[in-house]
Amino acid sequence: MAGPGRDLKSMTLPELEGAVKEMGLPAFRARQLYQWMHVKLAPDYEAMSNIPAAMKEKLRESFTYTRVRMIDRQISRLDGTQKFLFAMPDDSLVESVFMKYKFGNSICISSQVGCRMGCRFCASTLDGLIRSLSASEMLEQIYEIRRVTGEKISHVVVMGTGEPLDNYDNLVRFIHLLTDENGMHLSQRSLTVSTCGIVPRMYDLAREDLSITLALSLHAVTDEKRREIMPIANRYSIKELMEACAAYFDRTGRQVTFEYSLIRGVNDSAADAAGLADLARPLKAHINLIPVNPVRERGYEHPEDDAVRAFKNKLEKRGINVSIRRVMGRDIDGACGQLRHRHMADSEH
Ligand code: SAH
Repeated sequence: MAGPGRDLKSMTLPELEGAVKEMGLPAFRARQLYQWMHVKLAPDYEAMSNIPAAMKEKLRESFTYTRVRMIDRQISRLDGTQKFLFAMPDDSLVESVFMKYKFGNSICISSQVGCRMGCRFCASTLDGLIRSLSASEMLEQIYEIRRVTGEKISHVVVMGTGEPLDNYDNLVRFIHLLTDENGMHLSQRSLTVSTCGIVPRMYDLAREDLSITLALSLHAVTDEKRREIMPIANRYSIKELMEACAAYFDRTGRQVTFEYSLIRGVNDSAADAAGLADLARPLKAHINLIPVNPVRERGYEHPEDDAVRAFKNKLEKRGINVSIRRVMGRDIDGACGQLRHRHMADSEH
């Protein structure tokens, strides 16, 4: 399996043990390497003080050591939210966000460079999909934020740019590496993966027997309206989505979350609230309301604060567990894809 360019940081410990053996090195070297990469967050081979020079030379010849480069960092003066723009080894750009909550620090990472899902309200999709990220490129967003901030991380959400289930194999590999007891060892319960609803992959994910939280970006309660704002709704109906969520819940015992971006005059009526409650109830789903982050290119606006609260009350009266996503980093480019999009627009002028 070994060969030039193989991505060292995307390899599981057993795979690394195999590769180390192939190189004719003792097995304990694999564990050392793994620790350097995933626990001590070594920036490069140089930092690996107990790895012999000859072994480093062999590694350089046969593997790539994936690092991301920080291109921009914005720190909100309002709430300490930090937004990062990272360049991947091929110079493509992705965004990640660091957020401080009462319960701990959370990082939001991207799973693809751009996105091809085409949701009408989302800036990430404006420039289309460039490519999917490898497991190591997803991990590195977290590792680099830890290196730069020195902060502990208690939650990770895959809610940045990209559709994680459109990058399924790398996503699952990333989850195993991030939650591995020999690595950073994040609890699977502290990891949320958000999807626009690629139904067959939702069933696949259920079968992985992970205890991560699955969040479904629902955003509409009828197929007709969902198709207006999310092209993926042309492929899968809400009925199919609900069946997939039920299967996920049955198999994993994990309640799903519905994300619902409130767009003024589009999906914020009393009938929408009633429909949303009817979908959430049988699944005991938690609802996360997100007042839509206005994207200039699209012309969508969020309802007034009072209307958002009223929508929440309507759900609560129907016994639904609901929260309003706190707006964070309003003074920096908060919405998904906006920092990257602005950088790309700037560099074109
Ligand atoms: N592709 C995945 C994850 C990325 S988007 C998904 O669709 O879930 C993360 C969440 O932010 C999704 O619920 C998405 O619909 C939402 N989102 C995207 N742009 C937004 C905007 N401008 N305002 C509010 N929410 C937005």
